[in-house]
Amino acid sequence: MALTLEQFNSAPATQALQWLDGLYEHSPWIVERVLPQRPFVSLAQLKAALAQVVRESSADAQLDLIRAHPELAGKAMVSQSLTVESTHEQGKAGLTDCSPAEFARIQQLNSDYNARFGFPFILAVRGARGLGLSRQEIIDTFERRVHNHPDFERAEALRNIHRIAEIRLNDKFGVEPVQGNEVWDWHEKLSQHSDPGYAEKGQLTVTYLTDAHRACAQRLAQGMRDCGFDDVAIDAVGNVVGRYHAATPGARSLLTGSHYDTVRNGGKYDGRLGIYVPMACVKALAQAQRRLPFGIEVVGFAEEEGQRYKATFLGSGALIGDFKPAWLEQKDADGVTMREAMQHAGLCVDDIPKLQRDPQAYLGFVEVHIEQGPVLNELDLPLGVVTSINGSLRYLGEVIGTASHAGTTPMDRRRDAATAVAELALYVEKRAAQDADSVGTVGQLQVPNGSINVVPGRCQFSLDLRAPVDSQRDALARDVLAELAALCERRGLRYTLEETLRASAAPSDPALQQRWEAAVQAQGVPVFRLPSGAGHDAMKLHEVMPQAMLFVRGQNSGISHNPLESTTNDDMQLAVQTFSHVLNQIANDQP
Ligand SMILES: [Zn+2]
Repeated sequence: MALTLEQFNSAPATQALQWLDGLYEHSPWIVERVLPQRPFVSLAQLKAALAQVVRESSADAQLDLIRAHPELAGKAMVSQSLTVESTHEQGKAGLTDCSPAEFARIQQLNSDYNARFGFPFILAVRGARGLGLSRQEIIDTFERRVHNHPDFERAEALRNIHRIAEIRLNDKFGVEPVQGNEVWDWHEKLSQHSDPGYAEKGQLTVTYLTDAHRACAQRLAQGMRDCGFDDVAIDAVGNVVGRYHAATPGARSLLTGSHYDTVRNGGKYDGRLGIYVPMACVKALAQAQRRLPFGIEVVGFAEEEGQRYKATFLGSGALIGDFKPAWLEQKDADGVTMREAMQHAGLCVDDIPKLQRDPQAYLGFVEVHIEQGPVLNELDLPLGVVTSINGSLRYLGEVIGTASHAGTTPMDRRRDAATAVAELALYVEKRAAQDADSVGTVGQLQVPNGSINVVPGRCQFSLDLRAPVDSQRDALARDVLAELAALCERRGLRYTLEETLRASAAPSDPALQQRWEAAVQAQGVPVFRLPSGAGHDAMKLHEVMPQAMLFVRGQNSGISHNPLESTTNDDMQLAVQTFSHVLNQIANDQP
């Protein structure tokens, strides 16, 4: 019989402690310390409280917790001295069935890891879906993590311990993240479609209107029909649009969605999570034969990443009347124009202007997106509420000095363009850090025709500055540009600088943001607010209607635009519940 939260909340402390025995390996103190916080409204709240106890404990206590775990590949496996839980988990992952070469590799990694960090390698081997990682995935993770910085790796070990505890808790309480599992599986199936050249290598690349892209659209459309949407169609730019009607005709709709294209060799969840989470919510409504006083319109945007054509946000842009006809003549790397690609896909270019939505017909736009950053992962928080999508400014520049002999030019006579840009990069790093939530990056730094024995005479560079509000972004840019002028003056150099992009910040609509916050709180999860450093489709809709976003934690420090991008079935479950809560809030407030 599975334990219920009510039983856990009301049981004597000794009983509650006994029920959760083995949750954290040989470390009952963690559960002990959360018991006074009972009653818990949800398992998510209990999980967050447990993680908080570990966060607040001393470095020594954390290290003891890590060391209390058996080595994944060490003696413990051979001697069968694992706890019942660990034996079960490692058996599921198939680590007991290694080839001699795999076993030798794991042993080697294990000894390297121990020598470097002084604690055992801990991995939640049941993985993001809870079904178990393959041996290859385990070995790959091991190989990657052995190079981590020791401070980071200690935190990563703790995060894996929390994931192990999460799965154990689900087992003990007989809880299965059914919707989270389904959403996870949908992503997996969609990721089977990938562009040629990448598909063969097992990499995910879906660029605008390729065969894989059109297959994704078909699959999304069919998925929406299977969920019970009333109308499903692929529009004139390839967006997949599903509508779930309101209880009464003519009612306004809530607009939501995200993109299904990807960057090259990207992750499975970037964009797609924002399509599948609301689809799962609509599926639940349709199954319950429930209509809300407003419609739900879910859009899988065809293009956001600007990979095949330089037409970023094409999909969401079309909805606000911001499709630029000049884009149609752009050519991809093979010389195929966008117009030709659209005709080939059976899209009617003439219909694009009709895609523009009337903002009055909508309650606003909400978007769920994987965070694509390390913040939530680091704080052990599954969800975050977005306060603003950062405004950004981009520049391309060049510093011009004098190329001279590296051997004969004394240090005080040099006109070194590269060290000037290096100085600028250091200034950007320092200046951006002074603000809350500003970021600045010199991502490109090139010495054209540079030589090992020549002082750099020219240095080309890029500059990317972002902040949650435009005034903060502009102040940052002012200081950085002043510093560039000053350091060039001091070093006797010239420079050029061209602004290449200026995008306004998109602060969240306070009322919609408040809905996300209330919904997150209702899950028992601490409400955490953060700006979005990356641009999203919500930025485009922001131009015509109120918008607010929800972020979902990414594993592996939130890495994105990378195949390592990952999020768990449990976090997806919470995202679905949170979205459903927002729908219910709006339903309850509608006259
Ligand atoms: Zn995205």
